[in-house]
Amino acid sequence: MTEPPNGPERASPKSATRDANSAASDEYIGRLSSIEEIAAAVRSCTRCGLVETRINAVPGEGSDSPSILFIGEGPGANEDEQGRPFVGRAGKLLDELLGAVPLLRSDVFITNVVKCRPPGNRDPLPKEVRACWPYLEAQISLLKPHVIATLGRHAMNRFLTNTRISDQHGRATVWRDIVIFPLYHPAAALRSTTLRQTLENDIRGLPAAVLQSLEMSATRSQTPSEIDVSIANDPIPPASTEPSVDDEANKNRLF
Ligand code: URA
Ligand code: SF4
Repeated sequence: MTEPPNGPERASPKSATRDANSAASDEYIGRLSSIEEIAAAVRSCTRCGLVETRINAVPGEGSDSPSILFIGEGPGANEDEQGRPFVGRAGKLLDELLGAVPLLRSDVFITNVVKCRPPGNRDPLPKEVRACWPYLEAQISLLKPHVIATLGRHAMNRFLTNTRISDQHGRATVWRDIVIFPLYHPAAALRSTTLRQTLENDIRGLPAAVLQSLEMSATRSQTPSEIDVSIANDPIPPASTEPSVDDEANKNRLF
């Protein structure tokens, strides 16, 4: 595998060099053809300033064909130390709640919007999110999840802008061809029993969201010729003597 244009051999490039390289690098990331290749590129990535403070980049992990892709905002201290997503207290709660569905970590894929820890767990800066976004795009297009479950309002707002988590949690919304299912962040649920209860209830709605997504793709995969055949095979309506007003009104409608 060739290295990304701003790969490890150009350690700690100045930000101007990073910007100059980022267009070429976006293309490079878009061409990565496996989840392992994306992970390797993330681990050696220097596209944003978070490279300066990270211990380990956290590409994400799980099934290569997950029904659900969970997306948090960014690694915390434990994740930074271990290079794995959601391994701290919030991660333990997530595992526990998934178990109630029941789902295993190995059934799903878990990652974050930014793959390196923002110092002191601050919110990632817009330029860091922009720099890291192509990795998430590449993961989404390779993993082809039925549902993207965002964890917390920040991750949700990357997909559904100008929405409030208090309105959207536990509700399926279509983004591109994928069902987005916003959830409260497990770290927030650790601080409030009400939120924990809500998160638990919402997570139980995931199987229905996956079903909704499967139904959507079944409808999409009907080719035009299949649709034509089904119209042609429709039973002929019983003959009526006079066209009714309704028949007149409906004659230009297909369905
Ligand atoms: N919080 C996140 O958003 N992501 C992690 O990986 C861990 C905690
Ligand atoms: Fe690269 Fe993303 Fe880490 Fe920034 S946060 S260095 S873009 S992997």
